[in-house]
Amino acid sequence: MVKIKSQRLQSRLMEMARFGGLSSGGVKRLTLTEEDKGARNLLRKWMNDLGLEVHVDEIGNMFGILSGKNKDRFIGTGSHLDSVPTGGKYDGPLGVLAALEVAETIVEHKIQLNHSLVVANYTNEEGVRFFPDMMGSLAHVNPNKISEYLSAKDEKGITVKEAAADIGYNGKMKCGAIRYNAFVELHIEQGPILEQKGIDIGVVKGVQAILWIKLTIEGKSGHAGTTPIAARKDTFYAFSRLSNYARQLCSEIPGQLITIGSIELSPNAINVIPEKVIATLDIRNPSDEHLADAIQKVHEFIAKDDSFQNLKVSEEVLVDVPAVRFDQRVTSSISRSCQSLGYSEMDMFSGAGHDAQILATRYPAAMVFIPSKDGISHAVDEYSSPELIEKGANVLLQAILHLDQD
Ligand SMILES: [Zn+2]
Repeated sequence: MVKIKSQRLQSRLMEMARFGGLSSGGVKRLTLTEEDKGARNLLRKWMNDLGLEVHVDEIGNMFGILSGKNKDRFIGTGSHLDSVPTGGKYDGPLGVLAALEVAETIVEHKIQLNHSLVVANYTNEEGVRFFPDMMGSLAHVNPNKISEYLSAKDEKGITVKEAAADIGYNGKMKCGAIRYNAFVELHIEQGPILEQKGIDIGVVKGVQAILWIKLTIEGKSGHAGTTPIAARKDTFYAFSRLSNYARQLCSEIPGQLITIGSIELSPNAINVIPEKVIATLDIRNPSDEHLADAIQKVHEFIAKDDSFQNLKVSEEVLVDVPAVRFDQRVTSSISRSCQSLGYSEMDMFSGAGHDAQILATRYPAAMVFIPSKDGISHAVDEYSSPELIEKGANVLLQAILHLDQD
């Protein structure tokens, strides 16, 4: 069986991590900055050295194409080279450089593909410098929105268009010009599940639905020493009961996650009953139906629980993204690859957003996860071992060879 070269992939990962490299070992490489330019230039050099045809589209997405027998049918693989301000070496670059490694292995073994293979680097996946995140892949699937994305500004007022031009990555290719017959992205898990279970590979079946709600609860403030309990309109007491109930829902509804990550009390004083709570609920589930069930139960609790009587509750939906189901042909090519390589695998859903999730709205796509040490990501000590990276890249290679036969 054809295999990738682990050593070559590792040394490229380490070389890439020098651009925006932090003394702590992490990486700060915000999109379309000088650091990103260095990383992109090195990727372009490697693509050119390998004989790939390099294209850059209007928003700076990079594509290295290895022509197949059928030039107009494309299998894509890749990820992003940008990072968060205190990022690691693997979130993103692993998917891009493993894609390059797969292409190099195919060239070295003189394998003639039926499809053209595309090694992709998507712009602004992290969304730190420009909103929204996953912008490059969004532009790929919604080319009609390109002017909106190009005019997004960073905090200094620089637009995406200007930033791409500043580093020489305002390309000529129209966004969306490449239509994938399949897309596979290799990524670190960014969570602890694979490591805890001792499993090599996650076959990612989809991405969880996400609902963010801002909840405002209004009651009445009063003296902590003189207001009888029965007479209180205590917003925090009600909210704390809801918080407990939310945790209970997480064990009752399959796959349910609810996180209360921010809360403001007013007046926020030690001896005053709080008249107002503003809090956020982050509600996620791989199933849209289960998520709808969870939010309905939250509403029922607010309507029926005694603590909420006499309080005014209003809510604002901040984010509402439905679940994504990955393509079955692509996920089964990943499973078959794990089986033929003898690696352990499990089906899972991604808790984080990725380029493949956006591409999946238009093209058959799926993802391969490898374990993250201690589940850590978006942090300087993000780490996956060379052995696991090698396995992930070999699965990516085999999956692409399987998909090429379809
Ligand atoms: Zn990523």
